[in-house]
Amino acid sequence: MVEPIAVIGSGFGGLSAAIRLQAAGVDTVLFEAKDKPGGRAYVHEDSGYVFDAGPTVITAPQAIDELFELAGKRREDYVEFLPVTPFYRLLWDDGTELDYTGGAGFLDEIARLSPDDVAGYQRFVDYTRRVFQKGYVELAAEPFLRFSDMVRVAPSLVRLRADRSVYATVARFVKNEHLRQALSFHSLLVGGNPFETSSIYTLIHHLEREWGVFFPRGGTGALVRALVRLYQELGGELRLNAPVERVELEHSAGCLRHLVSSAGRSREPFHAVVSNADLHHTYARLYRKQPAADAMRQKLERSEWSMSLFVLYFGTDRSYPIAHHNVLFGPRYRALLDEIFHGESLPEDFSLYLHAPTVTDPSLAPPGGGAYYVLSPVPHLGNARLDWDTLAPRYAERILAALERWMPDVRRHVVVQRATTPLDFERGLFAYQGSAFSLAPLLTQSAWFRPHNKDSRIPGLYLVGAGTHPGAGVPGVVASGKATARLVLEDLGA
Ligand SMILES: Cc1cc2nc3c(=O)[nH]c(=O)nc-3n(C[C@H](O)[C@H](O)[C@H](O)COP(=O)(O)OP(=O)(O)OC[C@H]3O[C@@H](n4cnc5c(N)ncnc54)[C@H](O)[C@@H]3O)c2cc1C
Repeated sequence: MVEPIAVIGSGFGGLSAAIRLQAAGVDTVLFEAKDKPGGRAYVHEDSGYVFDAGPTVITAPQAIDELFELAGKRREDYVEFLPVTPFYRLLWDDGTELDYTGGAGFLDEIARLSPDDVAGYQRFVDYTRRVFQKGYVELAAEPFLRFSDMVRVAPSLVRLRADRSVYATVARFVKNEHLRQALSFHSLLVGGNPFETSSIYTLIHHLEREWGVFFPRGGTGALVRALVRLYQELGGELRLNAPVERVELEHSAGCLRHLVSSAGRSREPFHAVVSNADLHHTYARLYRKQPAADAMRQKLERSEWSMSLFVLYFGTDRSYPIAHHNVLFGPRYRALLDEIFHGESLPEDFSLYLHAPTVTDPSLAPPGGGAYYVLSPVPHLGNARLDWDTLAPRYAERILAALERWMPDVRRHVVVQRATTPLDFERGLFAYQGSAFSLAPLLTQSAWFRPHNKDSRIPGLYLVGAGTHPGAGVPGVVASGKATARLVLEDLGA
């Protein structure tokens, strides 16, 4: 009987790994620093308004269903997934609008916007199908531990031109600039600049077309609660308000144990650790003083990190007839993205994602009201260490003023509001440089080049979540849970 495994962090990646281990009969303890589980999918509640803090676009539902099936259960008995249509409403500064959906309706939309691009779009769909097969179906849950794993897939990556960026790839298929933006903004959902992120991420287009976009009834928080319930039914132990402060290694009688010190408890022995915490935090803080951890810390500090976000959650005393997911493109695309990813100050303009969950589930606000969040990608703190505590109220005001174009008089109707800034990502989630999505999804930081699901120099340390393979986004981190749990089970001989 081995000692239990410690899983540090209850984000979707941590939950996914912990559920898989429990379902395979391995005891785990899930440590969560916060008072609620979910990590970036935390839930804020205020005066009857419910705000999902992070993920709202739920795709690849079967990856989640699989977790329930492992335990002989049905996801439908725990949480309901409501289809969202259109997937996104795209609104440009110049008044252009496009409803982005999965079915034939989207072809009609393209024909309306840019008739010359219909054939090119169909070729793009065909390309994304091939990328999806390779990048998602075959490789997302495959750990890349050896360089030979990379060599094995290299010919396919070359054939699919993974060296090209998402935008450059889209631009080869369609000419209309609005359409190019419509087909390339998705990499932002996983923290990648469309002009720098590998074309492999065009697979998101196919994933959405193929399986749809969903929203859990009760919000993303309801999905987190469903996973926690499943985990606990499997016998898992969740400890909230339990930040892990450090992990020490102890060699005794030929065995290596991980001694975990968390709030109020010190040096509890575990057979291994699966860290869902921020990568840099894991190596710089949790495993501090381990020489191998220090080498990794230094490497991470030289790496490219994803941008951060400013998120404004607000509840109104009326509802607005808008779509559930809205992308509001500002006047600049490439130049703005360049400033967000590499600039040293806050850009003057912004492009926004506006989330309106009460369109799909009115129970998230008091009767007649609406719960919303609006998100603006901003530079991470390593590029621009801004005084967000001072800046936030003015930035929020500017964003709300811009929203009045689509939500008339909204400032007069806001009854509750709160903001999350890059400093909150840094202070509340220990996110390096306040990055919202961990390491940037560059080709040079993907697959074998990304920190591996199993550390090669600290035996018994495994990683799960946005910082490891395959990367950020709910489908990504759920797949990382599959890859990581498999490695743990193989090492246990289970
Ligand atoms: C605003 C926003 C919107 C997003 N929208 C979408 C979307 O619509 N669709 C999508 O697919 N993805 C979206 N994403 C991305 C997605 O949410 C993340 O990539 C994913 O949820 C990250 O999961 P994770 O497993 O890496 O863990 P995280 O969510 O990062 O959780 C890590 C957990 O570890 C805990 N922790 C850290 N250190 C310690 C410690 N020392 N001790 C104990 N616990 C610790 C933290 O408290 C946290 O709970 C969004 C992200 C953000 C920020």
